[in-house]
Amino acid sequence: MRRPSSAGRPSAAGGRAPRPRDGQPEQLGFEGMPERLFVCTPSKLGAYADCPRRYRYSYVDRPAPAKGPPWAHNSLGASVHTALKNWYALPPDRRRPEALATLLKGTWVRDGYRDDEQERSAYRRALGWLESYVESLEPGVDPLGVERVVAVKTGVLAFNGRADRIDSRPGPAGPELVIVDYKTGRTGLDADDARGSQALALYAYAAERVFRRPCRRVELHHLPSGTVAAHEHTAESLARQVSRAEDTARDIMAAERAVADGTDPDDAFPTTPGPRCGWCDYRRTCPAGAQAPGKEPWAAVDRPAEPPAVQD
Ligand code: SF4
Repeated sequence: MRRPSSAGRPSAAGGRAPRPRDGQPEQLGFEGMPERLFVCTPSKLGAYADCPRRYRYSYVDRPAPAKGPPWAHNSLGASVHTALKNWYALPPDRRRPEALATLLKGTWVRDGYRDDEQERSAYRRALGWLESYVESLEPGVDPLGVERVVAVKTGVLAFNGRADRIDSRPGPAGPELVIVDYKTGRTGLDADDARGSQALALYAYAAERVFRRPCRRVELHHLPSGTVAAHEHTAESLARQVSRAEDTARDIMAAERAVADGTDPDDAFPTTPGPRCGWCDYRRTCPAGAQAPGKEPWAAVDRPAEPPAVQD
């Protein structure tokens, strides 16, 4: 887990003018010239959909405003994700539950916990999740991809993202791909979460094109409860999610153009205050977030309760 920079915190008014995205020069829009594709990941699209101001702090303002301290739930999630990645890097005959403690220790991220006792308790919990989870895996079966980057272009987007796992499973007409996303938040997830996840749908859409095999099933594997929430997409439902992502990309590009044309950046990227402000990395920078009560960095791993709005 990377620690945030302590430099570059802007004023509370957040009046710094955004620069062109990713430091690239803006293209001039000549008639007949193809529009520039919007380069994006699921996190980038999700940040704007959640709160345009958070998007601006993350992706537009440079230098970026300083983030708050690291979150323990992000450390826990990253540790478990990397341990599972390294599990699959072992030769199949060494994938035994006894290997998990070493894997988890090797990938453990310490940031954000209240104290050593809380951290040790989280480690023991995570090890228990992993031990139960690997019991459910088919021995000797390798996924098609682990933390695999898939990318695709549409008329608007140049999408790329890293799927936790891509499985190849037998289907009625041959092998089919399945997108698997690990979750470590405190509450379970259901089929509506799998159906509504734009990230999973975009991974499926991209994987189908990268591997030239059907990829319609998406699964959320919730390690704390050992449950799997799944959804079977259709070509139409994937296309709808892509279309929504393109709409978001158009909104972002319009906001950036408006700033370039002189609109106040605070107006082009408005705040959308809500419960998620307490978990926002930019709460101390954002004038709306500063009004919201903040969460302690370890709050989400402290005891079973509502999950944080931002988790992985
Ligand atoms: S604190 Fe709230 S309103 Fe401000 S950027 Fe974060 S999510 Fe948006």
